Amino acid sequence: MSTFSLDPGPDQLAVRDWLHGFAADVIRPAAAEWDEREETPWPIIQEAARLGIYSLDFYAQQYFDPSGVGIPIAMEELFWGDAGIGLSIVGTTLAAVAVLANGTDEQIGTWAPQMFGTPDDVQVAAFCSSEPDAGSDVSALRTRAVHDEATGEWVLNGTKTWATNGGIAAVHVVVATVDPALGARGQASFVVPPGTPGLSQGQKFKKHGIRASHTAEVVLDSVRVPGHCLLGGKEKLDERLARAREGVRKGGRNAAMATFEASRPAVGAQAVGIARAAYEVALDYAKTRVQFGRPIIDNQGVAFQLADMKTRIDAARLLVWRASWMAAANQPFTSAEGSMSKLYAGETAKWVTAQAMQILGGNGFTREYPVERMHRDSAIYSIFEGTSEIQRLVIARAVSGLPIR
Ligand SMILES: Cc1cc2nc3c(=O)[nH]c(=O)nc-3n(C[C@H](O)[C@H](O)[C@H](O)COP(=O)(O)OP(=O)(O)OC[C@H]3O[C@@H](n4cnc5c(N)ncnc54)[C@H](O)[C@@H]3O)c2cc1C
Repeated sequence: MSTFSLDPGPDQLAVRDWLHGFAADVIRPAAAEWDEREETPWPIIQEAARLGIYSLDFYAQQYFDPSGVGIPIAMEELFWGDAGIGLSIVGTTLAAVAVLANGTDEQIGTWAPQMFGTPDDVQVAAFCSSEPDAGSDVSALRTRAVHDEATGEWVLNGTKTWATNGGIAAVHVVVATVDPALGARGQASFVVPPGTPGLSQGQKFKKHGIRASHTAEVVLDSVRVPGHCLLGGKEKLDERLARAREGVRKGGRNAAMATFEASRPAVGAQAVGIARAAYEVALDYAKTRVQFGRPIIDNQGVAFQLADMKTRIDAARLLVWRASWMAAANQPFTSAEGSMSKLYAGETAKWVTAQAMQILGGNGFTREYPVERMHRDSAIYSIFEGTSEIQRLVIARAVSGLPIR
């Protein structure tokens, strides 16, 4: 087990510098354009793929880095460049994590590479859990998966919403209920392979922030997938359902929750990247903007704002790194440390970007400067991957041992 360290090794520092260069030279200069276009920035994803930044190998290397900080470092740098483009590049990893968290080795080997495609034929993947009537309450999912005993296939029916890359993905991972009477414990995840009939995109959402990232409904109309598309396999599912029916709690982790638990610190790291970006813009601006005959940073009121921004960003990063290290070291999140990191980093990004707009005055309110975009982008970090309220619920339950509602 690696010991916790705040000193990333030379390999991680080299990756950080490499990604920072890509974020500064390729992502940041394109951010305003793709935000306005509200379209997936395919040329940038392709460039990332060509350089090896958008690839299964790259993310697997960071994911399995024993220090745990490979993924947070990568996320922070890419999202420092821009959150909308960043999410377009890393959105696939949420679906990949779903397969890693719930799939067999064979399933990981089959589906994970298809999610990314190749540099000549780049693909993205989507993770579809949320539904119009099941957002925070994942147990209320209505999308049904029915086993066809005659063919061994699974038949999926339902409507998913808010799916990042939904409808434009090659591979979709869909969470569905197999036994609705069991609530969250009756759910399973299924891979829908590329080109499967019956899966279509519903409406594409026009959003407040992260506008370069594609978010859409996914409609599943009698989608038939082979038996081997059930993540984890039928035997394991049958055992789990039998235990649930007997009321045995052991092993009752549900499929969507397993994915969210594993990805929360990474999402926190994205928020840290946005916050750091806005803070840097504000610090530079405060040093050069002159009012009353001196740079505005000469006023304690402004300098203290920057001091608080930097302090909160560093605190958020520490929580993210701790949770990421715990996950890598197989330490259980006994106080919901993953949720703590996502909660604090998400709220920090919203707060820091709002302060940055204030420090830039009128300029901060215009699209001539990037902080208004960063502020719009940050708003999603208290909503997706579990709202801030839901993170507090998870933490409160973990620390109290009580079924807080
Ligand atoms: C841009 C974007 C991308 C997304 N990407 C994906 C994706 O790729 N895949 C996917 O499956 N989903 C995705 N989501 C969905 C996202 O995870 C949900 O929006 C989120 O979980 C909240 O669900 P909801 O929108 O239905 O809000 P609701 O659950 O309806 O919540 C509304 C409000 O009520 C509060 N609330 C609800 N229950 C409680 C409670 N028990 N206690 C206190 N407060 C409560 C919430 O905190 C929130 O403030 C995405 C969403 C967006 C906007």
